[in-house]
Amino acid sequence: MKFLTNIKYALWGIITLGLVACNSNKQANVSKENPFEAKVDSVLNLMTIEEKIGQLNLPSSGDITTGQAKSSNIAKKIEEGKVGGLFNIKSVAKIKEVQRIAVEKSKLKIPLIFGMDVIHGYETTFPIPLGLSSSWNMEMIKKTAQMAAQEATADGINWTFSPMVDISRDPRWGRVSEGSGEDPYLGSEIAKAMVHGYQGDDLALNNTMIACVKHFALYGAPEAGRDYNTVDMSKIRMYNEYLPPYKAAIDAGVGSVMAAFNEIDGVPATGNKWLLTDLLRTDWGFNGFVVTDYTGIEEMVYHGVGNFEEVSAQALAAGIDMDMVSDGFLNTLKKSIEDKKISMDVLDTAVKRILTAKFQLGLFDNPYKYCDENRPAKEVFTEENRAFARKVASESMVLLKNENQLLPLKKSGTIALIGPLANTAVNMAGTWSVATKQALSNPLLEGLKTVVGDKATIHYAKGSNLDYDLELEKRATMFGKEIPRDGRTDKQLMDEALAIASKSDVIIAALGESAEFSGESSSRTNLQIPQVQKDLLNALLKTGKPIVLVLFTGRPLAIVEENATVPAILNVWFPGSEAGLAISDVLFGDVNPSGKLTATFPMNVGQVPIFYNHKNTGRPLGNSEGKFEKFKSNYLDVRNEPLYPFGYGLSYTNFKYDNLKLNTTKIAPNGSIDISVEVTNTGNFDGKEVVQLYVRDVVGSVTRPVKELKGFQKVFIKKGETKTISFKLTENDLKFYNSNLDFIAEPGTFQVFVGTDSNATLSTNFELTK
Ligand code: BGC
Repeated sequence: MKFLTNIKYALWGIITLGLVACNSNKQANVSKENPFEAKVDSVLNLMTIEEKIGQLNLPSSGDITTGQAKSSNIAKKIEEGKVGGLFNIKSVAKIKEVQRIAVEKSKLKIPLIFGMDVIHGYETTFPIPLGLSSSWNMEMIKKTAQMAAQEATADGINWTFSPMVDISRDPRWGRVSEGSGEDPYLGSEIAKAMVHGYQGDDLALNNTMIACVKHFALYGAPEAGRDYNTVDMSKIRMYNEYLPPYKAAIDAGVGSVMAAFNEIDGVPATGNKWLLTDLLRTDWGFNGFVVTDYTGIEEMVYHGVGNFEEVSAQALAAGIDMDMVSDGFLNTLKKSIEDKKISMDVLDTAVKRILTAKFQLGLFDNPYKYCDENRPAKEVFTEENRAFARKVASESMVLLKNENQLLPLKKSGTIALIGPLANTAVNMAGTWSVATKQALSNPLLEGLKTVVGDKATIHYAKGSNLDYDLELEKRATMFGKEIPRDGRTDKQLMDEALAIASKSDVIIAALGESAEFSGESSSRTNLQIPQVQKDLLNALLKTGKPIVLVLFTGRPLAIVEENATVPAILNVWFPGSEAGLAISDVLFGDVNPSGKLTATFPMNVGQVPIFYNHKNTGRPLGNSEGKFEKFKSNYLDVRNEPLYPFGYGLSYTNFKYDNLKLNTTKIAPNGSIDISVEVTNTGNFDGKEVVQLYVRDVVGSVTRPVKELKGFQKVFIKKGETKTISFKLTENDLKFYNSNLDFIAEPGTFQVFVGTDSNATLSTNFELTK
């Protein structure tokens, strides 16, 4: 019987081979009608309950080494039909070997799907997502995702756990580095760009992959910024401020969704039916598949909502289709079905979604489709890709301060490069760069030498360790990202730095966080540069030499002192595999910086959460200078304003904004309004500017933010040139969720602001009529 089934399946496979090939899904957007339904059903009909449950199981590959897969634990499970997909397995050879077990040894020969955290590039690594978002360049961001898909698929991967679109307003949270900052509008644009980049127009091609929007939902708002902590949020805030980027990814046709670790309204997202079914599927029309986060099901036990069997059933019933790592489905679902705690229909629905994804990818047609041994050498970490990564990195950097035009530096004289981040290749890619060959990234010292050549002399000294606290230093340099502790004393390190500083014309201080200071489970309560580095910087400042601070960070930092004392600060985030070259391009003016912050930099940790699109309160300050006023909403010890606002970033040139014009002052429902502004490059360099448009809904049925980003354009303007930049707003752009959670625009006055950052003051009004 078993044999017959296999024959039947094999025959069916041959017959449908051609069909599958020509029926490839031409839309990244998974259409409502499942074009693979008949085929999916015919597979489903062959499956036992155990095999069905097996399709929903997603273990991590563990430590499979090439040639060993056959004898691994996982291999046995795959053979028994207990695995639907694997993740964290790298290389064509290994993936092919594992896929072979599925399609040659398991009874039904269903191919596996292979996932990975391809978050900001594959081996060619782009800046951390927070940095990437600071480029505000949607075409470029889309291309990074395309390139990541090209490389990952060449290496056997067909599913990425990206984009991460969690809005976060809390830099204590380490994963702020993995997202696109604090703004729902910008976050939505980036979510779309990334989904389109990964998935392309045709998932059946061998260089596109299924994207996975995560972490659904609200993962970026944990209490006190502590990772995995409780989230508690009103529905109105949720809908207006946190949900838009997930929805944008769904609307862009994302193929999968990852449930968040946190709870929502007291129910863990992993078992939250309102979230995963009512909102996601019924309201938003999502019809891809939903995976848990790592051990998400098991964690529901710790959340305290049931035992392992109960939470596994709850997760499936809520809308989870794939169990990442918990083995909850594998070990308990059969019993739950037999006990009639959950129906076979619910199980079948989940299985169908997983099979559909495999059909979409064309894996039934050719399970080795992503296993062409010739591809990696030609397509991964190529010169061309690295050149693009260098460009992207330089466009993501944000110039925070540049007194007396200290930057760009001249390629001449003697330069002192000092700091624990100056010569560490392994930290350049930043957090969540699983596929990166860390040691191949270029550190700043190397980049500087390459870019300067023999035109200037470069002296290097480490200057200090990363942190005084050895234990903290270890935690912040995990996963092979060590910055080897120097055996010398702090004083010896500093003396060496001061000695090279004294014989140099300018100092470049490479300071800040190491890569693992941010990322998962890397929350901080102190948002400053580590004290040992601050001490080094202060000693360097005393030399009186001009200093450029090259700031490495995975989060907004509170750098009030540095802003007060250091003449030039370039925030480089973690720039990726071409870090050193890209930083040098900006330092020497081969690239004019054009990045703008997508997350507010606070004055101190006490201001957190801090974000530009806040409400007005009933007691706003009555003065525009931000001076303290008793019985108004402010602090005794620090002003309300941040250190650097959302949207902020300098250029080597200057841009002047004039002539803000509207084509009408009244728009009717279904109408639109054209807004234009003249932007002149008044400085001495050609440059790119991010022209930003904000709107304030002056009176609403519910309170509205003081301003909200509603449009932006990144434009190149030559020195001396004036460009007219135009925006169009429609009624739809003025909509928000009211207290009934209806998405509506309310008639009344709207204020428009245009400018270089969220403090934009050039402003005018228009009316939305009834
Ligand atoms: C993270 C996810 C990631 C998953 C798989 C989890 O710990 O929260 O973002 O995709 O691991 O590696």
